[in-house]
Amino acid sequence: MSKAIHRKPPAPALAVTGEAPLSTLSGVGPRAAEKLAAHGLLRVQDLWLHLPLRYEDRTRISPIRALQPGLPVQVEGRVEAVERGFRFRPMLQVAVGDDSGATLVLRFFHFTGAQVAQFVVGRRVRAYGTPRLGRNGLEIAHPSYRFLADDGEAYLHDRLDPVYPAVEGVGAGALRRLIGLALQRLPPADELELLPPQVLREHKLPSLRDALLTVHQPTSDTDLLKLAAGIHPAQQRLALEELLAYQLSLRRQRMAVRRLGARPIVANDDLADALRGRLGFAPTVAQERVLREIHVDIERDEPMLRLLQGDVGSGKTAVAALAALRAVAAGRQVALMAPTELLAEQHLATFRAWLEPLGVSVVWLAGKLAARARREALAAIADGNAQVVVGTHALMQEGVAFADLGLAIVDEQHRFGVHQRLALRDKGGDGERVPHQLVMTATPIPRTLAMTAYADLDVSVIDELPPGRTPVQTIAASAERRAELIERIRVACAEGRQAYWVCTIIDESDEIQAQSATALHVQLAEQLPELRVGFVHGRMKPVEKQTVMRAFKDGDLHLLVATTVIEVGVDVPRASLMVIENAERLGLAQLHQLRGRVGRGAAASTCVLLYQPPLSAMARQRIDTMRQTTDGFVIAQKDLELRGPGELLGTRQTGLAQFRVADLIRDAALLPHVQRLADDLLGSDPVRAERLVARWVGGAERYAGV
Ligand code: ADP
Ligand code: MG
Repeated sequence: MSKAIHRKPPAPALAVTGEAPLSTLSGVGPRAAEKLAAHGLLRVQDLWLHLPLRYEDRTRISPIRALQPGLPVQVEGRVEAVERGFRFRPMLQVAVGDDSGATLVLRFFHFTGAQVAQFVVGRRVRAYGTPRLGRNGLEIAHPSYRFLADDGEAYLHDRLDPVYPAVEGVGAGALRRLIGLALQRLPPADELELLPPQVLREHKLPSLRDALLTVHQPTSDTDLLKLAAGIHPAQQRLALEELLAYQLSLRRQRMAVRRLGARPIVANDDLADALRGRLGFAPTVAQERVLREIHVDIERDEPMLRLLQGDVGSGKTAVAALAALRAVAAGRQVALMAPTELLAEQHLATFRAWLEPLGVSVVWLAGKLAARARREALAAIADGNAQVVVGTHALMQEGVAFADLGLAIVDEQHRFGVHQRLALRDKGGDGERVPHQLVMTATPIPRTLAMTAYADLDVSVIDELPPGRTPVQTIAASAERRAELIERIRVACAEGRQAYWVCTIIDESDEIQAQSATALHVQLAEQLPELRVGFVHGRMKPVEKQTVMRAFKDGDLHLLVATTVIEVGVDVPRASLMVIENAERLGLAQLHQLRGRVGRGAAASTCVLLYQPPLSAMARQRIDTMRQTTDGFVIAQKDLELRGPGELLGTRQTGLAQFRVADLIRDAALLPHVQRLADDLLGSDPVRAERLVARWVGGAERYAGV
């Protein structure tokens, strides 16, 4: 052995026990290790945190007479009759009776001859499963079972059996055994613990060691109802630590970006003031406030990492334009990115109209640009002649080099995930430094959720709409009333109003019972010959879409039949009527975005939610919510309750939806504590913070490249 190895400092106990690879557990060969790794299970401590989905109670025997359908039980009795039959498919039925004098049928559809032979009348058997009401009383399909010696005491489990999330290629029994082995390696409580003792005291929480043992191996006196609901102190303790680790991870990522530094943007507001003079409206108090927050940020030598939340129609674009002019005035470049080509084109049109008269160059860069136009755009971006660059994701792709990108604005509209933000960060900047970044989202995210999901960003909120807007009146109507609606549209358009008619599918479909946009377009054009009816859908070429949208915007079309492509950001202030077909098929966020297309001008607007009865309970709740409020924050909260955070954020892949224990809705009350704890720990004990992150989100953070 070399001296170097002897000189190596002794590894801390945690590294030996928790960070040891799974191959150190008996029975884990290369093949099993690979299967486990595919589920992110690499280290012994990963098994500690592979928590049960539910439990099976084999600590007692239930009398058959007392069984209730739907409640899992363990029963014990003797085989009374065996019937092997073939009704449509092979079937084995075993009647088991116990001392309570009742009988239960064990039913098998898959079985071997050997199995059949074991079921001898009179034999003592113990079975576990969930009884259902069958044709001949209660039965359990495919119970787990074992035979017992004819007489004498039979052993009962003294703990509940955990049922773990399956790992492909590793049997449930093997997995349970491995986790048991891993738990034997749990170090003493004080060695394992990373939460400060006063926190545990303050919240009356068990140590991590105790919490893990309770959750993996609950004893029969554990409060099962609490455990099932996820609110047992042991689980709350784990959730707190997990949320804290996630929070620390995001904060650390943010600190890492901050450390890269940015060049301050300092300039006067002559250009911005010139734009204010041309806007035709005065920014709202909220817009001005947010703009000041941005100005303070970009004057610093750390990159701004700011999320701008503002409901649909709150005027985020004007804020973006005014901020952009600050950067341009400072001689820096600005990138503005949107999630779809349609929206990017609209931003392009707005920015050209607003900025070009001021002598600011606005360059377009999207994925489908002709080779020559693309070359020219890239050249202008590289030599700095392009002062403002508008585009889609293409802007973030390889090969787009800016002369001096000072400010990057991402119109997220809740389609970009965290990873796009990071990609942008990696891309921008002159060597070390990164651009100031503003992410705009029209999805109002409930505060607690935002604190968690966007812990790597500062948050600004535009919490008022421009004056003079009348809230959109929302009506729900059964699809039978379509004819009536067509008449209303005829009258409204004759008065000079414009209308959207939105469908959820383009073409007729056998699978989906919904009004197709193509058929509706034909029908409406026929029934409303005096109106000009346009049609826009997602399969059109961008230029075609743009032509139709422009015609609608210019007032050349009265009525626009559309698929949900118009959901994002489209701004036609004169449109004041919207019909949404099959509203029952759409989620709240989508409905809110769609409805946000009307009510943008001064005229009172109406949105009709057409639905195909009968409505499911969920669809009914969504439609009721839409009728009751136009407040995006209220709608987002409801959406969160109905669907959960993963869907709402559109960021399943970020890990938010993949908490092992925590549930952002159930555990919302923990979040403020998590914030405070994260602050304290980062300041007082960064090493501990790092170990917490490594324990819970090690892999995910590596993926994010920090
Ligand atoms: P969103 O925040 O949904 O992106 P937009 O930026 O598209 O909203 O703004 C919606 C509409 O409101 C646009 O027509 C915009 O010009 C207009 N607008 C923005 N700010 C104001 C304001 N302060 N007063 C009046 N109209 C405004
Ligand atoms: Mg917008």
